[in-house]
Amino acid sequence: MVETLSIAVIGAPGVGKTSIIRQFIYNDFSEVYTPTRTRYVYRPSVILNGNMYELKVLDVPPISSFPASTSQEWLDLRCRGVRNANAYILVYDICCVESFEYVKMIRQQIVENREGSSSEVPILVVGNKRDLQRQRFMPRRAVSVLVKKTWKCGYVECSAKFNWHVVLLFKELLGIAVARAMRQNHTSIRLQGALQRNRCTVM
Ligand code: GDP
Ligand code: MG
Repeated sequence: MVETLSIAVIGAPGVGKTSIIRQFIYNDFSEVYTPTRTRYVYRPSVILNGNMYELKVLDVPPISSFPASTSQEWLDLRCRGVRNANAYILVYDICCVESFEYVKMIRQQIVENREGSSSEVPILVVGNKRDLQRQRFMPRRAVSVLVKKTWKCGYVECSAKFNWHVVLLFKELLGIAVARAMRQNHTSIRLQGALQRNRCTVM
């Protein structure tokens, strides 16, 4: 049986969320910025350590805050599926401090608004546009320490433009999600089996 792992990709406008997802799934990158106006769902399958995972990747358009309640989520089409995601990728641009502030706010809201043990959902913070690192606003080490030690989230830097560390970031997130699911014996992400290998990314 293969169950689906839903991953919500959230971040300020223009940080490269769509680029990361499209590079991961289609090996495609566009310099032209086309703002994402509606929520888009991608459904890739991947194989990690011999196990098959079906992913539901939500490309979330700009939202002012994490939906605080189920009704808020259902009233705002852009937020559909965001509250119950099995994992989060919070993207910021390493050259844009405001985009990091946004990630900081969303991370806080995820922890506050998801109830009980579900507030311990896997979160991976991703610093994109690594190719522009001369303009970064904070040294990598300082961000990494803050995110990992204080926020208890994973941290990866990537460049969607050069497809650098893009597969790695999904691998990292899946690794955290699977380890956590095993610890909690979480049935909704009990992922195994091997179906439809022809449309998979082997990581
Ligand atoms: P989104 O609004 O977060 O979905 O951002 P997009 O994926 O649409 O990307 C916004 C802009 O940033 C586009 O013009 C992309 O070409 C550019 N971009 C995305 N990723 C990178 C990257 O890794 N490096 C550079 N230099 N530009 C990028
Ligand atoms: Mg987008």
